[in-house]
Amino acid sequence: MDSESKELNPIAWNDDESNSRGAQPEGPNGDESFRSGSTSTVAEPPAAMADSMADSSVTQATEPAAVAEPQASEAPGTYYGTTPIFYVNAAPHIGHAYTTILVDVVTRFHRLRGDDTFFLTGTDEHGENIQKAAKAHDETPQEYADEISSQFRSTWDRLGIRYDDFIRTTEERHKKVVSEVLQHVYDAGDIVYGEYAGLYCVKCERYYTEKELVDGKCPQHEIEPEYRTEANYFFRMEKYRHWLRDTLTEQPDLIRPERYRNEVLAMLREPIGDLSISRPRSRVPWGIPLPWDDEHVTYVWFDALINYYSVLVARGTLERYWPHAEHFVAKDILKPHGLFWPIMLKAAGIPLFQHLNVHGYWLIEDRKMSKSLGNVVRPLDLQQKYGNDAFRYFLMRDMSFGLDSSFSEPAIAERINADLANDLGNLLNRTLGMIGRYTGRGAQGCVHGTTRSARQALRRVAVRPRYRGRDGSGAQSQQVHSRHQAVGAGAR
Ligand SMILES: [Zn+2]
Repeated sequence: MDSESKELNPIAWNDDESNSRGAQPEGPNGDESFRSGSTSTVAEPPAAMADSMADSSVTQATEPAAVAEPQASEAPGTYYGTTPIFYVNAAPHIGHAYTTILVDVVTRFHRLRGDDTFFLTGTDEHGENIQKAAKAHDETPQEYADEISSQFRSTWDRLGIRYDDFIRTTEERHKKVVSEVLQHVYDAGDIVYGEYAGLYCVKCERYYTEKELVDGKCPQHEIEPEYRTEANYFFRMEKYRHWLRDTLTEQPDLIRPERYRNEVLAMLREPIGDLSISRPRSRVPWGIPLPWDDEHVTYVWFDALINYYSVLVARGTLERYWPHAEHFVAKDILKPHGLFWPIMLKAAGIPLFQHLNVHGYWLIEDRKMSKSLGNVVRPLDLQQKYGNDAFRYFLMRDMSFGLDSSFSEPAIAERINADLANDLGNLLNRTLGMIGRYTGRGAQGCVHGTTRSARQALRRVAVRPRYRGRDGSGAQSQQVHSRHQAVGAGAR
């Protein structure tokens, strides 16, 4: 490589498709209208979320969130929201549900205001862990991935989540684009062959530096990493460290809330090294072979992250949606999304996403929820018990975006009682009373058309189930009425 300032040419994707050609602006810094997004093309999230994004120091909000009123004067824009693709080594838990419902809610907001929207979710299906899990279940990796992937999909369907596409990394449409991106970056000289030795967490599927470990253990999994030596291909990430630091300075809200941008900036203060992006196929056959060396398969992050892009290439909607990409992730995958991903895009000559929006954890007794800790909360259990709308409302209302939140069932009951039954129920009843009085027909006189269906729907969610507990009889607060379930179907 001759110099760091060498500009890579945009890749000509799918040359036979005119809608994907010419989709690339000059580069991340080359096209101002692309990058900054005028208000007519890039709409802001609902006000309540924007507030908490702007101020990472907020604790739990005590006032009800302000309702963002779409402004009639604003022209419709475009919105592309993504969840991470979830790893198929375990069934969906409440943390997965939170991210996915969140993107659903934000996308619904944009859809309501007339924007052209695209909502992507999916599953990440390659890698050593899937190979191992499949073996433990006496299945092929593909069978195992099919099974768990369909669990994610049916869970999202039952939670009323309206995604536009569901990408699986084992699909041909994805593998093809991953190969093209890899080949491009390899040809440009940013992928090199080398030997690596280090401490490797098999669950994260990445190497850790000593400094990143907590008491010698992986901070995510609380297990000791293995010492490994391997000949791999490396992505020359360090070369782009200063570029990323400058980019985060120039675009301060690229990663938000600010605390997570600061975390990434802190990582960039010291050398970040090069990223191992392959595994020997002899050991990990379950992956996408490198296009120039099929003795190696692509390391999971270089495979997985490209999903955000590969879907649009495959659908021929790259130009339409990529300039509006909004990623939503939990903080445990800040490093791959805040560090690897922008550098991968830069090296591949692809413009950056609009924002990386990072949220905290749902904590169970102050610990992260995980399979290995045995404290996993399943979304469908809660949905069945409390109803879909109430469950979704709780998740959106109880967490301040960016901060950790404590999960408990009494907290759900409290939200339903205080916000839905009391506040919303009272508002409904008083409104209906006023309509009745002012139209001179009495409260019964206005129960037709939308008023009637609205009243029935709201009665189911808010008025009838009166949970005890607010008056001090706390032990009863978890009791809910099964009729509450009936509301669930409304969300989809
Ligand atoms: Zn780990």
